[in-house]
Amino acid sequence: MKRKHQKKPIEQQKIALERIKVLFKEAKAAFKEYPKLSDKYVDRARKIAMKYKISIPSSLKKQFCKHCYCYLMPAENCTVRLTKQKIVYYCKSCKHYARYPYNTEIKARRARL
Ligand SMILES: [Zn+2]
Repeated sequence: MKRKHQKKPIEQQKIALERIKVLFKEAKAAFKEYPKLSDKYVDRARKIAMKYKISIPSSLKKQFCKHCYCYLMPAENCTVRLTKQKIVYYCKSCKHYARYPYNTEIKARRARL
């Protein structure tokens, strides 16, 4: 019973992360011809992340809808807007919004000036 909650070895987690990155790359390449296939790649990447208990990098997290898990391609099946210091992704297949703040970027720019 105890083993169930144990983390997977770090070596395996590293390989899993690599696989997730490759799957997102493939999803991007396949989107134009087979949009359903790229949704499948997203699903598989999520399953790998769950199995190896690793979080998908935030840059990749923004590439799929967190409500219906479909792959998002700006201007194809989602719209991207900047409002109130947030990036708003509107998924056209499930008609839900996802908002991500970009305060850290603004703070970094202010610190530089
Ligand atoms: Zn959606």
